[in-house]
Amino acid sequence: MTDTERNLETEWKTYSPEETFVLGRQLGEMAKKGQIFCLSGDLGVGKTVFTQGFASGLGITEPVNSPTFTILQEYKEGRLPLYHFDVYRIGEEEEMDEIGYEDCFFGDGVCMVEWAEQIRGLIPESAVWIYIEKVLAEGFDCRRITVKGNRL
Ligand code: ADP
Ligand code: MG
Repeated sequence: MTDTERNLETEWKTYSPEETFVLGRQLGEMAKKGQIFCLSGDLGVGKTVFTQGFASGLGITEPVNSPTFTILQEYKEGRLPLYHFDVYRIGEEEEMDEIGYEDCFFGDGVCMVEWAEQIRGLIPESAVWIYIEKVLAEGFDCRRITVKGNRL
């Protein structure tokens, strides 16, 4: 892998939940088996909206919500299995072992991890990071979405 591939970084601004959904959907359409996507950003910034779009891009039609209490939710009806994590409530990285995260991270599908910075030590180098921030200067619904990673 060359340095240019490793340092790929792209930034978008969205002005509504629908736009964030569409961006997620486009990424979902391109997603490849084995990819891990890490979502970072404050509560209510749009990580789940983005994931809903991503799921739609994989061909998943069932409703997608933050698995805040179960940590992990699996969706199998799409082009690839989607493993959707919300690790907000994870205290110790060891708790991830109990959930069997390795089978998801190194499995046959794609992973989307909300609050991934909580388990930074477990995230492989190859993961794609997606940072979502509010841009209040441009309105209550404006979000800056920065995608950093290897070949997207
Ligand atoms: P998170 O998973 O990061 O906690 P959610 O996706 O559950 O956040 O919620 C995001 C909230 O922000 C939703 O109520 C959504 O309607 C609202 N929202 C407003 N503008 C945007 C935007 N540009 N992108 C995503 N969500 C937005
Ligand atoms: Mg969420």
